[in-house]
Amino acid sequence: MLDKVLIANRGEIALRVLRACKELGIKTVAVHSTADKDLMHVRLSDECVCIGPPSPTDSYLNIPAIISAMEVTDADAVHPGYGFLSENADFAEQVENSGFAFIGPQAETIRLMGDKVSAIDVMRDAGVPTVPGSNGPLDDNKERTLSLAREIGYPVIIKAAAGGGGRGMRVVHNEAALLKAVYVTQTEAKSFFGSGVVYLEKFLENPRHVEIQVLGDGQGKAIHLGDRDCSLQRRHQKVLEEAPAPGIPDEVREQVTETCVQACKNMKYRGAGTLEFLYEEDNFYFIEMNTRLQVEHPVTEMITGVDIVKEQLRIASGEPLSISQADVSLEGHAFECRINAEDPATFLPCPGKVTLFHAPGGPGVRVDSHLYSGYTVPPYYDSLVAKLISYGENRDQALVRMQIALDELLIDGIRSNIPLQRELVRDADFQHGGVNIHYLEHKLKS
Ligand code: ADP
Repeated sequence: MLDKVLIANRGEIALRVLRACKELGIKTVAVHSTADKDLMHVRLSDECVCIGPPSPTDSYLNIPAIISAMEVTDADAVHPGYGFLSENADFAEQVENSGFAFIGPQAETIRLMGDKVSAIDVMRDAGVPTVPGSNGPLDDNKERTLSLAREIGYPVIIKAAAGGGGRGMRVVHNEAALLKAVYVTQTEAKSFFGSGVVYLEKFLENPRHVEIQVLGDGQGKAIHLGDRDCSLQRRHQKVLEEAPAPGIPDEVREQVTETCVQACKNMKYRGAGTLEFLYEEDNFYFIEMNTRLQVEHPVTEMITGVDIVKEQLRIASGEPLSISQADVSLEGHAFECRINAEDPATFLPCPGKVTLFHAPGGPGVRVDSHLYSGYTVPPYYDSLVAKLISYGENRDQALVRMQIALDELLIDGIRSNIPLQRELVRDADFQHGGVNIHYLEHKLKS
C-alpha cells in the first residue's frame, strides 16, 4: 500500500481524499495556496506545503511547485481530485517520470480520451453505442460534409475534438448554415484549444444525461458500478444528481454497462472513470469519457457500498480491485445536491465569511463539505462548498430524506443555492423522475 499521498486539490474533494487515506493508514500531504491555509483538510493532514499565491495558475495548476512538494515531503503518489490537473496528461506524465505514482490512468489513456474523436473510436470498437455522426474529423471535402449531414438529418452539432467545459460546439438546423458553422467552429477551436479538428454528430433534442462509473486495475480487469442521472444542469453545470437513473429498462442498462466494461478492458484502463452518455428514447449515445473521480461519485458509493476513492488508492498501489462484478449489487437510491456559494437569483458567486454552518444528519444522510463556522470562502475558486447526499431503500425515501436534510442545513453569512435545491426536490416533474437536460433552464426562465 502507498505510504504517503499528496493531495493536489482543495475544498471538499481534498477532505474526501484525506479521509480515504486515513482509513487506509496512508499519510497525507496537503498543498495549498496562500488563500487556503485555513482549509479543513490542511488542518487535518500530516504535513502541508504552501505552493503559491491564490491564482490557480500559480498554485493548484503549478506543476513544478506540486512536484517539488512531492520531493520535499517524500510522498509516493499524488491524488489530483477533480478539475485542476486531474485530466492533464502532461502532469500525469511528469509525475511518473519523476518517479511518483499518479492516482489515475496512464498519461496516454488521458490523452486518448481527451481527444473526443479518438475516444469515440475506442468506444465504437468495443461496441459502446455512439451518436450517429462523421465517425472521425471533418475534412476539406465540402460535398462530403453536406451529404453526411443530409444523411444523418438536421439538426446536427459540430464539435471540437479537443473541446471541453461546454465550449467549442455549434448546433446547425439547416443545410444553408452548415459550412459556415464548420468553418467558425474550426477557427474557434484552433484559438481555444490549439487544434482546429472538428467532427459532426446528430443533435439530440431532448436527451437525459446518464453516465456509467467504471473501475479498472490497469492490467485488463474492469468492472462497472452502475449509472447516475445528472440531467439537472444549468449552463452545462450539474446541479442535482441521482443513482440509479430512474426508468431505464434493465436490459438496456445491462447492455450498455457491459460494453463500457469491455472498452475499459480493451484499454487496460487504470483507476476510476466515467463514460458520459446522452439518453433518449431508451437509447444510450456515448459523448465523452472523464478519466478521473467525479464530483457526484458519492451517489454511486451509497447504492453500491463501494468506496471509490479507496479503490483508486488500492489500484495506484498496484493491488487488484477489492471486488469483482459479481460482488457489486445496486441497492436503494441516492441523491446529491450541490451546494454552491452563489446568489440564488443571479447565480453570481458569493464568497465571504460563513458565520454559522450546521450540517444535517440522521439515517441515510451524508455531508461532504469543508465548511465550518468562521471559515471564509475565498473568491478565487469554484463556488462548490458542500455536497448533501441522501440514501433511501427506494427513490421516494431518498427524496424525502433529502427534503428533510435541506431544511436542516444552515449556512449563514454567505448566500447559497439552498433555496433552489429546496424547490427542486419538491418539483412535481423531478419527483416523477426522468426529466431531460433542458428542464432546469426552462424552469428557471418561467
Ligand atoms: P464538454 O466536454 O464540453 O462537456 P460534451 O461532449 O460532454 O462536451 O458535451 C457537453 C454538452 O453538450 C452535453 O452534456 C449536451 O448537453 C450537449 N451535447 C453534446 N453533444 C450533443 C449531441 N450530439 N446532441 C445534443 N446535445 C449534445
